[in-house]
Amino acid sequence: MPTPESKKKSRKKPPAPGGPPSSGVVACWEDDPGDPTVPPPLVPIQVPAPNQSATPLPYKISGAAPAVNVYQAGTLQFRYYAAAAALRRTADFWGGIVPSGTVWNIGKVLPVALDSGVDLNAFYTRGDGGDSPGLHFFHDTVSGTVYFSGESPDVVCHEMGHGVLDAIQPQLFDAQTIEAPAFHESFADMSALLSALQVPSFRAKILSDTGGVINRSSRWSRLAEQLGFAIRVGHPDAVDPDCLRNACNSFFYTDPQQLSPNAPASQLSSEPHSFSRVFTGAFLDALAGVFQTLGGDNDANLVQTAQDGARILIGGVLAAPVVPDYFSQVAAAMVQFAEGAPFNGKYRDVLKGAFVRKGILSLQAAATISGVPKQAVRSMVAAVSRAPELPRVALSAAAYGLTKSVMTVRLAGGIKRLGVTGAAASGSSEPRGAQSAAESYTEDLFQRGHVDVGEHGSPTGGLTHPFGLKTHKIVEEKGELVLMRITFDCGFDHGRRLP
Ligand SMILES: [Zn+2]
Repeated sequence: MPTPESKKKSRKKPPAPGGPPSSGVVACWEDDPGDPTVPPPLVPIQVPAPNQSATPLPYKISGAAPAVNVYQAGTLQFRYYAAAAALRRTADFWGGIVPSGTVWNIGKVLPVALDSGVDLNAFYTRGDGGDSPGLHFFHDTVSGTVYFSGESPDVVCHEMGHGVLDAIQPQLFDAQTIEAPAFHESFADMSALLSALQVPSFRAKILSDTGGVINRSSRWSRLAEQLGFAIRVGHPDAVDPDCLRNACNSFFYTDPQQLSPNAPASQLSSEPHSFSRVFTGAFLDALAGVFQTLGGDNDANLVQTAQDGARILIGGVLAAPVVPDYFSQVAAAMVQFAEGAPFNGKYRDVLKGAFVRKGILSLQAAATISGVPKQAVRSMVAAVSRAPELPRVALSAAAYGLTKSVMTVRLAGGIKRLGVTGAAASGSSEPRGAQSAAESYTEDLFQRGHVDVGEHGSPTGGLTHPFGLKTHKIVEEKGELVLMRITFDCGFDHGRRLP
């Protein structure tokens, strides 16, 4: 049914000349537009025209909105509403889950730029790197066809997920440890998964395609098939064979500091998108367990699964301190949070099982997590929410060819509340020090060429990777060099972003 807003909007803006009369609905995709080499082509659905401001987490796509109408896929107008509908779905969903009063880190309204130039990419930024704050999407030509990352609900809901996490746990943005950005990427993918579950026709397909075993590989678990295809043409091993990343995977947690900074998609590396797959895989398994606990089988239980899974996830994020082994802290906090009302421990075994099977919680850790009274969980959430900014620490910059010998970073120096760790192949992994984690992640960033050193690079000793996408930059504050994050980039940096 059209919303009152969309009716009002459709009266205000008549349909394009020659087009069919508007009925207050627009056409959009259920989830990703799909890999163009895999038939049959997907069929758009129709939804009420999305109002961008009448949601708890408002957003604004730059430029004028096309007249409300059902447009053909492939048109500029269709792409606009494909993005607008996906964003509204995500904003409405998270708006009902996050603490009331939550606002974007960058202001009351999240700005969205649907085409910021040529790249196979998309990113969220606070606006410190020269791009305007908010979400940015791009386009590029592959095998004669132009692909727009902003057309994919998987990509769009992923990007808004970064914004949601930055709103509720801003410490993660700059925390200098591999598991902070890896969790950001995982949360963004989990946001895409949960948002897709808000589409009734897509829920029916998931139930049909998976036979009710929702952690099987499916259109749902395969994220960003179209962008994955576009990247695969030029870089066959950079993405999965059938999508950008598949939440249905068998990656097992290992200390990311022991991993190489890059690897083919079939292997785990310390690169945040790659390492994020461990947590996303565990979450998919946890959702499947929640669904079965609820009785499985039907649409209502799938809706409830998304609600309960998201509430537990947010409860875990709000209670977990930012430390190097952050995955295990979030997992343990989720298990504890689910001990309280309204869940009262009914998901205990499926949550523990999912995190133990992926090695995010060691067996010993899972055994030590016990229920805590609801009030205690509330006070823990409040304590973390009030936590001050992460401390800054000086790292040696000698190896990075900068003009000074040290630079400062934000240390993942939160205070651990639970002495849990992840598993390694040979048992429980040793907790890592925050300083060591910062040094390791910093080295990764420079090796991948993601740091814009600007005027602070030594004229002869620096290695600047001039055409690589920069997620971080070096700035000077009070005579000190500071390494700071600019963006979470989410596609594939092939070094030719153009305006
Ligand atoms: Zn991302």
